[in-house]
Amino acid sequence: MKTTKLCPVQKNEKYVVTIEDLTYEGFGVAKVEGYPIFIENALPGEEVETLVLKVGKQFAFGKVLQFLEKSEHRVDDENMQWIRTGIAPLHHLAYPEQLKFKQSQVENVFTRIAKMPEVSVLPTIGMEEPRAYRNKAQIPVRSLEGKLETGFFRKNSHDLVPLEDYYIQDKEIDRAITVVREIMRKFQVKAYNEQENTGNLRHIIVRRGHYTHQMMIVLVTRTPKLFQYEKMVKEIVASLPEVTSIIQNIHPERTNVILGKEEKVLYGEPYITDTLFGKVYHISAQSFYQVNTSQTEKLYQTAIEFAKLTPEDVVIDAYCGIGTIGLSLAEKVKQVYGVEMAKSAIRDAKLNAMANEIENISFETGKAEYVMKKWQEEAISVDVVFVDPPRKGLDPHFIEATVEMKPKKLIYISCNPATLARDAKILAEKGYKLEKVQPVDMFPQTAHVESVTLFTRKK
Ligand code: SAH
Repeated sequence: MKTTKLCPVQKNEKYVVTIEDLTYEGFGVAKVEGYPIFIENALPGEEVETLVLKVGKQFAFGKVLQFLEKSEHRVDDENMQWIRTGIAPLHHLAYPEQLKFKQSQVENVFTRIAKMPEVSVLPTIGMEEPRAYRNKAQIPVRSLEGKLETGFFRKNSHDLVPLEDYYIQDKEIDRAITVVREIMRKFQVKAYNEQENTGNLRHIIVRRGHYTHQMMIVLVTRTPKLFQYEKMVKEIVASLPEVTSIIQNIHPERTNVILGKEEKVLYGEPYITDTLFGKVYHISAQSFYQVNTSQTEKLYQTAIEFAKLTPEDVVIDAYCGIGTIGLSLAEKVKQVYGVEMAKSAIRDAKLNAMANEIENISFETGKAEYVMKKWQEEAISVDVVFVDPPRKGLDPHFIEATVEMKPKKLIYISCNPATLARDAKILAEKGYKLEKVQPVDMFPQTAHVESVTLFTRKK
């Protein structure tokens, strides 16, 4: 006979609970008979009375009715909009504690998932001024009470919360969003309506070079029509003199993906440039680029130091984006191979190699797992492999091909400790020793955890 296990909690029930952990979206986690309840604005160590709002198979959501015991690390001027929208879901936790939390997140997954409790994780490298760091904003546009509004969605919903101060974004980007919003209102642009798939302007994206201050504005529209766009563009450029690129991205489909495939340059270049370690990079609208520039330099520096490169080394930069890691280290080594699946990123990467006059690097477009296999079959001899995969981590075929190539070192940059730990376990089984893990805080005020791990091949 099949037995169905009943949820230990029901909607609208109240519980007194102690918060044990935080999710990567910044919810406090409490447990009732082992069943997790995710609670907004609740910090580890706090005792709260919670009301259960929503019950699912695996977990429930609750809200705080009252705090019975507050964390000594709570910063008391919390802004509920930043918490509710998930813009800065941890800003109510003192920054030094955020850094410790991230270190312990990594330690925990190595113990729980990889069964490697012996792994020692270094203290997180933080920012001196952990605010206004984002060089990119992707702002949804909706109509509220008949008015075109910009802001951010409430977590796990598509309800727009109007915002002007986004706290963690470059202040010039915040200002640009408001300026563009006013121009869109003036020209009576219709905001996108998701339910009916009507209206036009879906998102405003702004990117600003941290060092160059060049600004790109992307208007993501449902239809190709953008009435009076020449006049709009003129006004944007007149109000925001830093703008060197305005792009219309056309996205007719009903999906959560922000960008469509078709693009029109309305003004200037199809990219902006910025620098990292003094090298120049072309960044186009569709390409991935790290959002926290100063911490990216610390992240790459850590990765490069871990590698202890020599002039004879042949290096692979896998998941290379616009080539930033490979180009940052190319002058220290004999040859670099980059691989990345986004075509626009590879186009940028090739331009970037030329712009920086670096000749000992080549790039291939494709899935890292296939290209790695091809390189292995071609018997390329490799000394050091850098990987920087998305949240889902490394593909098993990628690991297989990499191990076959027998690099002396593997440097793993990870934005998700859970998949890092999973992959570390496989790598350990295949003869790669985990030497050290360095978390670097790329996303202050959020629960995202980035880290660099050094693996060396056992003799
Ligand atoms: N190293 C770069 C980019 C890291 S982000 C930097 O620091 O800027 C991860 C990149 O992996 C993205 O550019 C994404 O397009 C790419 N990507 C995702 N899955 C991939 C796959 N299976 N094969 C190759 N590239 C992939």
